[in-house]
Amino acid sequence: MKLAIAFGLLLSLLAVSAAAERFDFFYFVQQWPGSYCDTWRGCCFPDSGKPAADFGIHGLWPNYAQCHGRYGLARAVLGDDAFFSIVGRRGRCWPQYCGGDYDDNALRPWEIRDLIASLERSWPTLSCKSGRSFEFWSYEWKKHGTCSNLEPHDYFARALALKAAHNLTAILAGAGIVPSATETYSVSSVSDAITQGTGFTANLDCNRDADGESQLYQVFMCVDREAKRLIDCPLHKRSKCSDQVKLPLF
Ligand code: AMP
Repeated sequence: MKLAIAFGLLLSLLAVSAAAERFDFFYFVQQWPGSYCDTWRGCCFPDSGKPAADFGIHGLWPNYAQCHGRYGLARAVLGDDAFFSIVGRRGRCWPQYCGGDYDDNALRPWEIRDLIASLERSWPTLSCKSGRSFEFWSYEWKKHGTCSNLEPHDYFARALALKAAHNLTAILAGAGIVPSATETYSVSSVSDAITQGTGFTANLDCNRDADGESQLYQVFMCVDREAKRLIDCPLHKRSKCSDQVKLPLF
């Protein structure tokens, strides 16, 4: 009898915790296409054509305010699915693949049909594996979107709205930070311009061009759990940027 009650409790706990993912905030990650392309690896343009010289969306990623330990033994005994349903996927810094990596969790084109033209402009693939941006969106949906507590349409529509509300390319241009093959900018001037323009401090991510020079690659803004408003970041990522960074032409 006691065993049956305990089993029932465990099942209801699993059901409740599977219903809503308890992350703390989103990282909204935008990417400078020139910096994606200008590395030793290069890039390929999507089937829809060369994207504009504008920041593109990389993703909208649920994140925890605190990373959690791995509880190795419990995880090994329970298996990942049961373990993460009980501890709320808190075994790492963010939840991912909340529906598993199965095909039945794939994004379906009809779910975002009215957004496709905007997504092609604002969330283009640059990968040489496939020119179909839909594959990039579908990957981001499976890995991050399924943990967002949002339906696919809201997930993509809110990402687009966030990008439109905070135009990073225009904000930087307003501070004299424009794409250039030769110019470098102090990373603090980039950061200050974004803080002034959006009201919030961003986390900046840099990579290196083929000559090893530091370039602004991605801008991480923190967003509330509804994916509607920017917020102060609960945590700050360590920056890999040098003091001076490039913003390569695209
Ligand atoms: P994530 O797993 O969501 O952190 O995204 C990382 C993956 O996205 C890596 O495989 C990257 O190569 C890929 N990625 C990043 N930017 C782009 C882009 N613009 N187009 C296609 N794939 C990308």
